[in-house]
Amino acid sequence: MVGVLGAGQLGRMLALAGYPLGLRFRFLDPAADSPASLLADHLASDYSDRVALERFARGLDVITYEFENVPVETARYLEQFTPVYPQPIALEKAQDRFVEKSFLCELGIPTPRFTADLKNNHGREQIGFPAVLKTRRMGYDGKGQSVVRSESELSDELKKKNTNELILEDFVAFDRELSMISVRNKAGETKFYPLVENRHREGILRLSLVTGSISAQLQKKAEEYCAAVMSTLSYVGVLVIEFFEKDGRLLANEIAPRVHNSGHWTIEGAVTSQFENHLRAVSDLPLGSTDRLGACAMFNLVGSLPDLKTILKIDGAHLHLYDKSPRPNRKIGHVTLVEKDEETLQRRLGLLKEIVDV
Ligand code: AMP
Repeated sequence: MVGVLGAGQLGRMLALAGYPLGLRFRFLDPAADSPASLLADHLASDYSDRVALERFARGLDVITYEFENVPVETARYLEQFTPVYPQPIALEKAQDRFVEKSFLCELGIPTPRFTADLKNNHGREQIGFPAVLKTRRMGYDGKGQSVVRSESELSDELKKKNTNELILEDFVAFDRELSMISVRNKAGETKFYPLVENRHREGILRLSLVTGSISAQLQKKAEEYCAAVMSTLSYVGVLVIEFFEKDGRLLANEIAPRVHNSGHWTIEGAVTSQFENHLRAVSDLPLGSTDRLGACAMFNLVGSLPDLKTILKIDGAHLHLYDKSPRPNRKIGHVTLVEKDEETLQRRLGLLKEIVDV
């Protein structure tokens, strides 16, 4: 049985991918009515309740997680009873943006310039304007971020916040945002999906595209970067790096030690989905092919549900709902299209865009 920390939509999709492999699941999540709880055993408990953690771990073969803000102490505590993959060191590296970017730099992976030394001008002067001020921890979907355009704007922001908990980065006027979904199993076998092009609005992913428009050179570079992170950490599971592409160069923005929203297209669009490959990796099984099956697009349904019948009338539209109540800026489902060529994809995307606000 596989234990999963967190029972959101990623956990739900892990379970849906795991049942055909004969796997069973147990989730732990403080929220009683989370998207995965209808599908499997669910223990509603806090991540710090050691009695509940021990009960959760009993009888499990392996434990994994579906979000990167699982407390590192929780993962380390659980390791006493059951192997935890990806290993807790990956959580440590990904949870703090300063630690994360420093780690990437040590591996020679380019990132936007950054500093956490915000108390004096020396640190701040290394970064020009505009710049992005971010919380070091717990930021996601653009939360805890602000763009500052001058020294006075920066000073105003710093007065409102605790400087020890912040990082200042170059604002990158990127050409595109890309992400690479990669996977490594216990035997050290690695596989990489094609680079995904991602479009965000208000910091939230709206659309992912995989159309074959990425050069072999860029794909190779991204694979090298993911491979470096995975081999350094002896990583097991799916690992995602989000990049900015600027003048043909990749700058790493973030690492996610888990399955990722920009990999949802792999459910219908790749030979093996990211969810299945993650489960294969943590269960010590051979990895499946990461080849794509066509020109793919994935749309997030954010905030409110459009007319579902109209979506389902579009040939080839795959609808996924997460059983979450609609709320502004909340991801409540997604739609994937997999087409034989880009022209058909763009035509059907056009139909979807009339219904869904991207
Ligand atoms: P993050 O929370 O770091 O994943 O950022 C969310 C989104 O904000 C990214 O996907 C980008 O669209 C934007 N963003 C974050 N950092 C930067 C940056 N340094 N320069 C420009 N845009 C950024």
